[in-house]
Amino acid sequence: MTNISGDLMNKLRVGILGATGMVGQKYISLLEGHPWFEVSYVIASPSSAGKKYSDAVAGRWHMKKDIPANAKNLVVAPINDLEKAKKSCDFVFSALDSDIAKEWEEKYAEAGIPVVSNASTHRHTSDVPMIIPEINPQHLDVLPIQQKNRGWNKGFIIVKPNCSLQSYMLPLYVLHKRFRIKKVVITTMQAVSGAGHPGVSSFDIFDNVIPFIKGEEEKSELEPRKILGRIDGNKIAYDESFEISAHCNRVPVIDGHMACVSAEFENKPNREEILNMWQKFRGVPQELNLPFAPKQPIIYREEDNRPQTRLDRDKDKAMAVTVGRLRGCNVLQWRFVGLSHNTIRGAAGGGILNAELLKAKGYLK
Ligand code: NAP
Repeated sequence: MTNISGDLMNKLRVGILGATGMVGQKYISLLEGHPWFEVSYVIASPSSAGKKYSDAVAGRWHMKKDIPANAKNLVVAPINDLEKAKKSCDFVFSALDSDIAKEWEEKYAEAGIPVVSNASTHRHTSDVPMIIPEINPQHLDVLPIQQKNRGWNKGFIIVKPNCSLQSYMLPLYVLHKRFRIKKVVITTMQAVSGAGHPGVSSFDIFDNVIPFIKGEEEKSELEPRKILGRIDGNKIAYDESFEISAHCNRVPVIDGHMACVSAEFENKPNREEILNMWQKFRGVPQELNLPFAPKQPIIYREEDNRPQTRLDRDKDKAMAVTVGRLRGCNVLQWRFVGLSHNTIRGAAGGGILNAELLKAKGYLK
C-alpha cells in the first residue's frame, strides 16, 4: 500500500498520449504538483512530434492556468517510439481519439506500459475494467486475467466511462446497492467542452439547445450495466437487472454536465433513507484518502434551485457530484438532479483518480 503523503523522491513518471489535445492539456494542468505523479513524457500526432510542448500548443492552450514549467520544455514524442516510451515513463494516460487509441493502446500495454484511458475504444472489451473508483474498484481484479489472456506481464489497460455518466451514476449506485433499481430515465444537459475543441460551432449552440449528441444515448444506457456488473470467469458480466432510458442534449454552457433522473426501485426507499445514504456515502478513494478524491463524494443541496452549473460544478476540486431537487415522481418513484464537472471528474480528474487507485492497490510501480 502506498504512503499516502507521497514520496517526492519517488514519483512515478507519467506519459500522456494525446498531450496536446483538450483532455491532454487538462492532464498536464491538473498533474502540476501532484504528490505521486510527474509528467515526464508527452506524445501527440506527427504534426506536433519533435516540437517543444509549449510550441506544439502555441495559440491553442485552453487551460486557465499557464503551461506548467515542467511541461513547457518537454519535447513531444511520436507515438510509435515504444522503446523510448518504455524508458521514459512508468505508465501513460491516454487522451487519444478513439480510432488512434484503437491502434496504439494495446501496443503500449503489450510493451509493458500500463494505460489509463479516456477513450471509448475499450469500454466494452470484456476483460478491460471501466472504473469509477467509488463504485467498482473491485473490477481491478480482472487485470491479472486481462494480462493472462493476452500474455502481457506488466502492461494493462483500464478505462473510465463517458463523461455524462458521472453526474448520475454515483447517486444511483448508492441507492441501487440497497434498494435495487428497477427502471431509470435520465435526461442530460451537457456542456460544449464535452465535444472537445473546436467542438460544436458557436453559431449552432448560442441561443440554442441541440437534442442530439452522436452515440451518447447508447453510451449512457450501456456503460452503467458494465460498471454495476461483476467479474464472472475471465470477463465482466453486465448487470441486466434494470431498464434504462437516456435523452442527451447539448446546452450552451462551457463546463458541467447536468442530469435529471427519475427512478423506480425494487424496494421503495423513503426520502430520509435516500438523503442519509447520499450524505454518509464514502467509497474506497475516501477510505484511502487518495489525493484527487473528494472528501464528500455526493453533496446534497436543499435549496429549490440547486444544483446550478456555474455555482456547483467546481465543488471539492471539481470531483464531487452535487445533487438536489429530490422529490416524488408521478410515474416512477423518485426524481432528482445531478451535476458534475465533465472535463475534470468526467475526464482528466477521473483518469487521475483511477491511476491513484491503481497505485494505492499496488498495480503501478
Ligand atoms: P483532441 O483535442 O482532438 O486531441 C487529440 C489528441 O490526439 C491531440 O493531442 C492530437 O495531437 C493527438 N493525436 C491525433 N492524431 C494522432 C496520431 N496519429 N498519433 C498520436 N497522437 C495523435 O481530443 P480531446 O477532446 O482531447 O479528446 C481526447 C479523447 O478523450 C477522445 O477519445 C475523447 O472522446 C475523450 N474524451 C473527451 C472528453 C472531453 O471533455 N473533451 C471527455 C471525456 C473523454 P495533435 O495536437 O498533434 O494533433
